[in-house]
Amino acid sequence: MSLSVEDPLNSVSENRSKQDMVWMQHALRLASTAAECGEVPVGAVLVHADHIIGQGYNQPISSHDPTAHAEIVALRDACRQLQNYRLPTDTTLYVTLEPCTQCVGALVHARVTRVVYAATEPRAGSLVSARQLMQAGFFNHYFSYEGGVLADESRQLLRFFFRQRRKHAKITDPQP
Ligand SMILES: [Zn+2]
Repeated sequence: MSLSVEDPLNSVSENRSKQDMVWMQHALRLASTAAECGEVPVGAVLVHADHIIGQGYNQPISSHDPTAHAEIVALRDACRQLQNYRLPTDTTLYVTLEPCTQCVGALVHARVTRVVYAATEPRAGSLVSARQLMQAGFFNHYFSYEGGVLADESRQLLRFFFRQRRKHAKITDPQP
């Protein structure tokens, strides 16, 4: 037996993590677009069979829609194009921030297979932070999830956005 033979399982997971980074980069570009529009920078991409089937960025303010988180916008984009209220099996969602309760619920309804997120959301994250909804036991569908892919990049984007917003708020605050 030769030691130079590649472990097929290892190379599969290596390929997957490389692909995860590529799709997360794309989600981060969408998050930047949100920031340019004055929205909290979160981006999401739905991928099936190595193709983007839906994408979106956070836009509740500009769309006058409190539900318009990046995940929801991406789901609506995919489902409209597919003309189906459920996603194809083996669809992965890449999102730059851990999903909230609303988005976890919607992803369950849509039957997503896997969720990959970048940064955790300590206050409202509902996969590992504030709630662990995939362990809740009351859903009729469960998806696998993993976090930490390009987390630093996502956190930087969020930090920069909130810093700028605070600066701007100070400038525009009426003086007493
Ligand atoms: Zn959400």
